[in-house]
Amino acid sequence: MPGPARRIGAVKPSATIAVMQEADRLRREGIDVIDFGPGEPDFDAPECVKRAAHEAIDRNLSHYLPTRGLPELRAALAESYKSRYGTDYTPDEVMISCGGKNALFAAALALFGPGDQVIVPSPYWVSFPEQIRLAGAEPVIQPTRDEGFVARASSAAALISPATKGIILCSPSNPTGVVIPQEELSSYADLAVEHDLFLIFDESYEKFLYDGGAHWSLASEFARVRDRLVLVSTFSKSYAMTGYRVGYAIADQGILSAMATVQGHDATHATSIAQAAAVAALRGPQDDLRRMIAEYGRRREIMVEGLRSIPGIACTRPDGAFYAFPSVEGLYRRLGVDDSVGVAARLLRDARIAVVPGEAFGCPGYVRFSYALAADRIREGIDRLRRIAAP
Ligand code: PLP
Repeated sequence: MPGPARRIGAVKPSATIAVMQEADRLRREGIDVIDFGPGEPDFDAPECVKRAAHEAIDRNLSHYLPTRGLPELRAALAESYKSRYGTDYTPDEVMISCGGKNALFAAALALFGPGDQVIVPSPYWVSFPEQIRLAGAEPVIQPTRDEGFVARASSAAALISPATKGIILCSPSNPTGVVIPQEELSSYADLAVEHDLFLIFDESYEKFLYDGGAHWSLASEFARVRDRLVLVSTFSKSYAMTGYRVGYAIADQGILSAMATVQGHDATHATSIAQAAAVAALRGPQDDLRRMIAEYGRRREIMVEGLRSIPGIACTRPDGAFYAFPSVEGLYRRLGVDDSVGVAARLLRDARIAVVPGEAFGCPGYVRFSYALAADRIREGIDRLRRIAAP
């Protein structure tokens, strides 16, 4: 039997999906698993989004669209970036994709190839290095653990070689929740100009900020880096629309054309119905979004304070996203394990708590807790954790 292509051998399956599947399997057996694994809101899509999807079906929005997506949605996004950051992107410089993941993949395939290196700060979102590998390029990991998980341009500079072609940044970060400050983004822009690099900026969690914190976007630096910048975001998180699969990329025409070539031979375009629903998400009332963020702010406190109350766990307060990323090295001896994969396995087996080990994000010694679950479930999970971690 013929085997899969060689490129598949270099790629790891998504560890976050693996955890969700195992937790799912246990649940199907009737076991009460507290699932801190998911990277998706536990809210439902807003009513106006659902209504718009129904209406799109009723008015027969059932034909092919332009590869780059529904013109109305692209215009709304170009307008939104202009009003927030003063950018001058045209609707033709916006491409709607099947989730932010597909936009990032199209960028990797369009911009990187064999012989290219791409700098990825770690801990990273699981798909960044794998997408780079699938494109035939090499991810070069920039550890940020000793810098409080803030990706620093000065550390990236030390990794630049003649083969470096780009840098991928994510803020607020999955998995740490850390926000990259504007002055650091500005330094990355300097670096990209100096070394002629692409900059891919994933702002999928741009709305998930707490304590009145602001979202800093590389879009603010667009004037200097317009010809090398790819902005990526998604409706999945902000509007609780993960299953709709609508994300987007915004980039200079030259870059976006290359990405549209990839999408044109791949998905063709994101689903028409879902794109119509995304227009409603942008243009409709934002109350659901505000309610969700306020609720996540409350849960963040319960999560972080709960984790901090457990001996052996050290947790910083994340500024954004909906994850806590505590160090669990202090639990190894008590749990009889020697890495964070072991911690995650023990928590699932003996406490029925699902978390994602830091190894999945290139950062052993830590585990990721999503707090996209009800407050009483978070409390129950912390109690279980406290029991298993007790000396
Ligand atoms: N980027 C980051 C950092 C993410 O965490 C995710 C999803 O978990 C995505 C992109 C992609 O999300 P989607 O493809 O659902 O838009």
